[in-house]
Amino acid sequence: MSYQPSNLSIRASSFGKFFDCAYSWEGEHLLGKRKPAGLRALLGTGVHAGTAAFDSARLANADISPDDAAGVFVDSLHHPEYDVDFSNDELKLAEAERIGLVLTSRYCTEIAPQFQYVAVEMRLEPLVIDCGGGTNITLTGTMDRARVAESDDGTIIPDVKTGTRVVTNGVANIKSRSAQTGTYQLMYEHTARERTAGAQIIGLGTTSKTPIAVSAVFDARRVLVGTDEAPGLIQLAADMFRAGLFPPNPQSYLCSKQYCSRWDSCIYHE
Ligand code: SF4
Repeated sequence: MSYQPSNLSIRASSFGKFFDCAYSWEGEHLLGKRKPAGLRALLGTGVHAGTAAFDSARLANADISPDDAAGVFVDSLHHPEYDVDFSNDELKLAEAERIGLVLTSRYCTEIAPQFQYVAVEMRLEPLVIDCGGGTNITLTGTMDRARVAESDDGTIIPDVKTGTRVVTNGVANIKSRSAQTGTYQLMYEHTARERTAGAQIIGLGTTSKTPIAVSAVFDARRVLVGTDEAPGLIQLAADMFRAGLFPPNPQSYLCSKQYCSRWDSCIYHE
């Protein structure tokens, strides 16, 4: 089934997934094929809720302790706001709670103090991309799970990532992260009328060893806008939307029955 949009509103936080597997993205965001999340995704949601509560309160000069943030995590874990398939993962709830409590605590005590945040999950001004041929797409929404921070080099966008592969051998993994963080960099610049110095990945590993790491600052914006020699992802996305082309990517690390709602009908995976 193909879908040729002419004027679409797209959540900025989903744009990274569009570049990961556009066929999967089309299924989920244009054709409405959803599947219940697994427990590990719920664990990530809880950790994000706890850490965002901690950073938001500190930005507002309100009292909050790591224990309070842990309470927000536990509440989120036990009261999901979306369907969860608890059979979709080998992880058990008690272990998920243990992992999330460690990660939330370590984030609050070891990572947050390294940053001077100025915004948490900031609302972004819509950004219209003219694809040509009467097709527009508009990126909207908030900078989900990301922060804005001041650094010696200027304003940076630290993006908090949870998952089993976000930290490898003690290093925060930035592979395949530029599409999402570059989108946030561009949209922050559009919203605040201020250039960014780059992005960073804050990795909170949801494996039993709960590894955490912060990447070096990298320029994801360049990947979005391109260079004299190579078109940026914005241009490529515009061409794809205008043509109504959403190619599959069976090499994606999210290409699995567990993560992709199009798995059962997709003929492109092994
Ligand atoms: S099964 Fe794999 S290739 Fe097919 S849509 Fe999903 S992620 Fe893409």
